[in-house]
Amino acid sequence: MEHLINPNVRKIQISGIRKFANLVAQHQNVISLTIGQPDFPTPQHVKERAKTAIDENRTGYTENAGLLDARKAACQFLSIKYGLSYDPKSEVIITNGATEAIDIALRTVLAPGAEVILPGPVYPGYEPVIRLCGAIPVFVDTRADGFKLRAEAIEQALTEHTRCVILPYPSNPTGTTLSYSELESIANVLQNRNVFVISDEIYSELVYDGSHVSIASFPSMREKTIVINGLSKSHSMTGWRIGLTFAPEYITRHMLKVHQYSATCASSISQHAALEAFEGGVEDAVAMKVEYVQRRDYVFERLQRMGFDGIKPSGAFYLFPSIRPFAENSFDFAAQLLEKAKVAVVPGAAFSEYGEGYIRISYAYSMETLKEGMDRIEYFLHGNQTI
Ligand code: PLP
Repeated sequence: MEHLINPNVRKIQISGIRKFANLVAQHQNVISLTIGQPDFPTPQHVKERAKTAIDENRTGYTENAGLLDARKAACQFLSIKYGLSYDPKSEVIITNGATEAIDIALRTVLAPGAEVILPGPVYPGYEPVIRLCGAIPVFVDTRADGFKLRAEAIEQALTEHTRCVILPYPSNPTGTTLSYSELESIANVLQNRNVFVISDEIYSELVYDGSHVSIASFPSMREKTIVINGLSKSHSMTGWRIGLTFAPEYITRHMLKVHQYSATCASSISQHAALEAFEGGVEDAVAMKVEYVQRRDYVFERLQRMGFDGIKPSGAFYLFPSIRPFAENSFDFAAQLLEKAKVAVVPGAAFSEYGEGYIRISYAYSMETLKEGMDRIEYFLHGNQTI
C-alpha cells in the first residue's frame, strides 16, 4: 500500500544532516562540530519561571495564539531590539519552535504550483514543506555573492508564479547577514509585487558586526512580510520549543487556523518560560555573543592557516569554508574527516546542491572542544596520518 501514500510526502528526502549524524553515531571518540544548538544552559531566571508555572498548575491549554502576556512581552522585545511594531492581540502566534512557524507560514501562503525563491545554500527546513504544499522551490545560487540573496538576483528569479521569497538571515549554514542597504534594495524590488516574504530571523540576537535589521522594518514591506523568530538560539532554549510568527492581521488570522488544527497551542510551561525570557532576559544573549565571537575568530583563523578558503561570518554560529583546496565532494570529505581525523562536520551538500564543495562547522562548542577539533583536522590534512 506504500504507493498510495501522498507522493509529495514520499518524495521528501531524509535530511543530509540526519544521514551524516547516522554515520557519526557509528564512530567513537569523535569530536563533533555538527550541532546547531547553543552549548550554554537556559538562563536560570527562565528555568525558575517554568518551575513556578508547574507548581502553580499553569499547565492547561492556552489560547491558540499563546498566552497574551507572553505575546505582549515578545512584541516589546522586538520593538526594543529591532524597532518592529506588532499588535500582540492579532499579529503574533507562539508556535512549537521556529520549525512550526516556518510550516504554518508556508502552508498559509502557498497553493500548488506557487514558486518560492530562496538562497542556496540554505537551511534544509524549508524545501520539504514547500514540496508538501505542491509548490516549487526556486533556488538562487548565492556562492559568487558572498552567500547573499541579492535584490538583482531576486528580480531575475521572479515570475508571475512567484508567491514568496524566503530571507533566512543571519544564515544557517553560512553565517552571512544582510545589511540595511542590501535589505533596502530587496524592498525596492519587492514593494510593488504581489509576493510575500518569509523572513526567518531565528539568529537575530547573534549578529556580530553591526546590529540586526529586519526587512519588516521597511514600511513598504511590513504588510507582506511574515517574521519568524524564537528562543531556541537567543536564549539557549532549543528543547523548550518556542517560536513565533509576527505578521499583519490579515495573514495571522489565516496562519492561526493552520496552527490551531495542527498544534492547538505551544506548551503552556514553555510559554511561561518564554514570557520571562522576553521580559527579564532582554540582554541574555550578550554574554553568549562575547564567547561566540572569540570562538568564531579562533576557528576562522585556524582554518585559514590550514588553507581553507572562506568568508568570516557575521552572524549565527557557523563557518562554511570551501573544501576545494583539498577535495570536491563534501560528503566524501566529511566522511574522511570522520574516519581519519575523528572530527564530525556537516557536508555542505546537506544545504542544497549549492552547498557542494563546502563543509559546515558549528562553533557552538567550548574552546577546548574547538581546539581539539582544529588540531585533529590540521594533523589529518598536514600531518597526513591517522590519529
Ligand atoms: N530556522 C533556522 C535557520 C534554523 O537554523 C533552525 C534550527 O537550526 C530553525 C529555523 C528551527 O528552530 P527551532 O529549533 O526553534 O524550531
